[in-house]
Amino acid sequence: MKRARTKRRGGIGRPAEELLWLATGLAESCCRVEDRYWDERLGAAVEVSLAHDDEDTLNAALDQAFTRTGSVYDDLADAIESRTESPTAVPTGSGKNHNLLLLAAPVLAWSRFRIPARSLPAATLANLRVHLQAHVLARNTQLALADYLFSPDQLPQGYCSTHGLASVMGRAALDNSDFHVDPEELVETAQFLSDTRYLLVGVAAPKGSAIFRWQENDGNRADALAQWRGQGGGCLTPLLPGCALEFCLPESYFSACRAADKASRPYSICASIAFLATSLEVPVSNLRAVVAPFWGEQIEEYRIGFTVTDNNNVVHGVVWPLLGAEDDAIDVPGEIEAVLRECGVTAIRILDHRFPLEYCDDCGAPLYPSPEGEMEHAEMPELEEGQIPRHLH
Ligand SMILES: [Zn+2]
Repeated sequence: MKRARTKRRGGIGRPAEELLWLATGLAESCCRVEDRYWDERLGAAVEVSLAHDDEDTLNAALDQAFTRTGSVYDDLADAIESRTESPTAVPTGSGKNHNLLLLAAPVLAWSRFRIPARSLPAATLANLRVHLQAHVLARNTQLALADYLFSPDQLPQGYCSTHGLASVMGRAALDNSDFHVDPEELVETAQFLSDTRYLLVGVAAPKGSAIFRWQENDGNRADALAQWRGQGGGCLTPLLPGCALEFCLPESYFSACRAADKASRPYSICASIAFLATSLEVPVSNLRAVVAPFWGEQIEEYRIGFTVTDNNNVVHGVVWPLLGAEDDAIDVPGEIEAVLRECGVTAIRILDHRFPLEYCDDCGAPLYPSPEGEMEHAEMPELEEGQIPRHLH
């Protein structure tokens, strides 16, 4: 997915030039045989940068590729992501006969209270292992579960540190042993009304064999998801008390994170509406929503301000980030409106003038559009003690 990138000036260095040259070759290739030639060399060059912790080279090449026409950027991003989540550098032992892959199983959550990011007890890990093996992974795979449910800000930042985690979890998968995460080494989690939690899984599959259950003749994705929601959900739900939860399909790391980012947009609107209706004790039909685009150099996101009938004060807001090229092709305000209607909100105003990307100077919360077309700080009326933080996100 093509993401916005800030342009840089000046040269980008030899290794980044080489990545760009190889990605351009792949983008312009005429057949699978030529594809393979470029892809193998591009992959090897990416692995050199990953092995040297050279995040700058990868980003410099991506920045340049973003300005190119055709599929140069997508091909380069694919090569970087696939080598990051699927490390090959296991030189000896049984590792050289296996493919390794880092998976993520996202959980969408919302709560009027705290959404935990926490360690997972041994009994839960043992049960999750059984369900993953039975419903999500192919026969003959081995796995390692991280014994922690991560918040988004606790995930490794950047390709090189993600590659590092994928490598240690891949090695743990070759031993079929779980991976211990020290909570002391993780950053503290910011609290939001709705947020995502991630279960991370390292998988080792013999080369040439299937990785996922749905690659086998009698498996499919729909069954895998249904079983995971039921069985995996059953294991994790007791560890997230007071939270409404939705379980996404466990997939390769980057794909799962993107799917979770996308699914969390409508999810957070529905969560906010349910939250407002219960906290303010008003029927959903009394809520009004104001939707507006917010601009930096280009359009960055939509923000939705909620008010209660007869009062123009914004009581709560939701950000709908734009995630990439696919958002260019669709009617985003129309999609937001459809989600609001599905949740029972019928009083919807869509503003089309450009709001600047502004935040509260004190607490950093985004400002939201009001029915009068102003930007406002969301303020909940008369909040009970001990509920949720004053500034909602
Ligand atoms: Zn504030």
